[in-house]
Amino acid sequence: IPVDPFDLVIFGATGDLARRKILPGLFHRFAVGQMPEHARIVGAARSDLDRAAFRDLVGGSLLEFAPQASGQKGLVNRFLEKLDYVRVDVTGTKGWPELAELMRPDVIRAFYLSVSPTLFGAIADNLNEHGIATPDSRIVVEKPFGHDLASAKALNADLLNGFAEHQIYRIDHYLGKETVQNLMALRFANSLWEPLWNSTHVDHVQITVAESLGVEGRGGYYDRSGAMRDMVQNHLMQLLCLTAMEPPSRLHPNAVRDEKVKVIEALEPVEPADIVRGQYRGKGAADGYRDHAGDPDSRTESFVAIKVNIGNWRWAGTPFYLRTGKKLRARTSEIVVMFRDPPHMMFPKTEGLRGNALIIRLQPDEGITLRTTIKEPGPGGLRLAEVTLDMTFADALGPHAEAQDAYERLIMDVIRGDQTLFMRGDEVEAAWAWADQIIANWEDARQHPAPYDAGSSGPEDALMLMHRDGRRWREIE
Ligand code: NAD
Repeated sequence: IPVDPFDLVIFGATGDLARRKILPGLFHRFAVGQMPEHARIVGAARSDLDRAAFRDLVGGSLLEFAPQASGQKGLVNRFLEKLDYVRVDVTGTKGWPELAELMRPDVIRAFYLSVSPTLFGAIADNLNEHGIATPDSRIVVEKPFGHDLASAKALNADLLNGFAEHQIYRIDHYLGKETVQNLMALRFANSLWEPLWNSTHVDHVQITVAESLGVEGRGGYYDRSGAMRDMVQNHLMQLLCLTAMEPPSRLHPNAVRDEKVKVIEALEPVEPADIVRGQYRGKGAADGYRDHAGDPDSRTESFVAIKVNIGNWRWAGTPFYLRTGKKLRARTSEIVVMFRDPPHMMFPKTEGLRGNALIIRLQPDEGITLRTTIKEPGPGGLRLAEVTLDMTFADALGPHAEAQDAYERLIMDVIRGDQTLFMRGDEVEAAWAWADQIIANWEDARQHPAPYDAGSSGPEDALMLMHRDGRRWREIE
């Protein structure tokens, strides 16, 4: 469905994120016919370019990062005609009048801030001072949204100075993933799960976001943040919220976000014994975390595993185990809902049976697997075996499961004015308040992350976090 005509201004349009994700995503939406005829994209950045040079730059980016662009010269050219460029140094005064001049009065205005968060305040102020922002404009900001609670509050204050909360779209691209949204459909469009979705029937939940790559190339940036800030406070927290929240009464952005905030507020303080930090060491010389971080003594974690308890009626007694890390055995993201054993087993004990689990895979091969127990086929008496019901969305849904990158979906939601998949200010602050408590324990210089081998499943201690509770992580594979 095409969206309404818009002027989308991308601050930082010559930067890495714009060239790799935002502009290729917009091109894809154009290619599938979702972009209205009167849509316009205005690049705004410090580089000394004119409209033609910016179009050339974007044309090159599309060839590099949008696979469907090659061989479609006509289509690419028609897309490039939608682009304009204004040179603006956002901390100065130049360029703003030209931008104001370009904006059309009767279309949706959206401002995408693909720049350092230190510039958010200056951009928000200038958009208002120069009369570019209207009460209906949207402002989109990139991660990281703060480094801790205090900085997140300061960023919120910067934005709220010129925009109302209903105009602010804080991106967590994880929320734009097909399967993440499917979590809501799976939970709330089926009557099968809801009666079982509680501590009476669920033994525990595992959320794993494993990366096989290390911090090569961005070690300096990463070393100031670490896995807790880079992944847990935002992406894993979002997955936890969507898995644990109560059914919202309607599919309205605030109804959904209210329920997510309630989950974060119900998180119990985490005991130090329930947290494992790790740092990978290289397989060869000079390939460990510390070699890339540029600090031979770095204490930053490239891995974290946490046992979290949610203190509410639904989840008391059902821990959630979160784990994420770099340089692990494989790249995989999944949520495992592990059900309790039947209350009484009349069958002879069978070694190796792991019980019922619902596995929601976010990547690779988005899909759902249900692990069940059946009779082992054959004449050898009634012995039990495991079998899985597998549904890979691409196989089951065919061409309808057409890849739509998270960014393009989210940008179109901005134009539609739908904030459901964006984090609200109080939600981000609540997540930081929780993360800060944990990070505070690590300030002590004696606290070192446990080393783990590149290509492994993380530190031994992370396995112990489960074993001591009589549970096991699902293999990272
Ligand atoms: P980048 O350094 O590649 O690009 C920065 C852009 O900002 C350039 O276009 C530059 O011209 C512009 N800019 C810088 N200072 C300016 C000023 N004073 N006035 C006007 N324009 C100015 O950065 P990036 O990697 O594209 O990241 C942009 C934002 O997106 C950052 O907040 C980053 O944290 C976030 N982000 C990036 C990625 C990624 O994969 N690159 C992923 C997630 C989030």
